[in-house]
Amino acid sequence: MNSTNPVHDRLRRLESSFAPGAIRAVLFDMDGVLIDARDWHYEALNMALAPFGLEIDRDAHLATFDGLPTRTKLDMLSKSRALPRGLHGFVNSMKQRHTGDMVRQRCHPVFQHQFALAQLKAAGYKLAVCSNSVRQSLELMMQRAGLDGFLDLMVSNEDVSKPKPDPEMYLLAMSKLGLSPAECLIVEDNDHGVRAARASGAHVLVAGNAGDVTHDRLRAAIDEARLAA
Ligand SMILES: [Mg+2]
Repeated sequence: MNSTNPVHDRLRRLESSFAPGAIRAVLFDMDGVLIDARDWHYEALNMALAPFGLEIDRDAHLATFDGLPTRTKLDMLSKSRALPRGLHGFVNSMKQRHTGDMVRQRCHPVFQHQFALAQLKAAGYKLAVCSNSVRQSLELMMQRAGLDGFLDLMVSNEDVSKPKPDPEMYLLAMSKLGLSPAECLIVEDNDHGVRAARASGAHVLVAGNAGDVTHDRLRAAIDEARLAA
């Protein structure tokens, strides 16, 4: 076979994707992996807390809060900063409203992510996003980023009883796709997410940020997982 022939390359990939130990699905975290939204959540939460004289500094947000659902962050603020629990509902709804505004202003398609997901989809992989965000934010961000059409499944924090760092969200996605952990590659960017991913038993690719998530890196991680099997 001529190794430079794209059809032969495609056939060889297809053949290897049915080999024992092959990855059949890629499960992505959203924030920091497919969307560069860490600052949006941080800014939106501070805007919602400002009327009550509370503010989280950026380092504390990155070190402690990043990747957790808003309701978990509010629980932590009630314990550490005496935020009255009666305000959780209001602060949460204001935070979601500010996040929605930021997504509509700032979330746009990124070519490298659209390309990566299109290539994986064409190669036969199942694709899912599992996020600690609420369903409305998850759907809005995937739609604004032009990625929703590539996805077989979206799992939000409203679909599980325990958010990450618990692995429930990833286990739910695998059971809905009918796949075992060994057949899945999870892409995560921060500590809470990586803990959830590892606890699920799947293969894990840790991305430093959304810019690290390229088709080449994903292919390399898929090939590495097969060799490790
Ligand atoms: Mg993340």
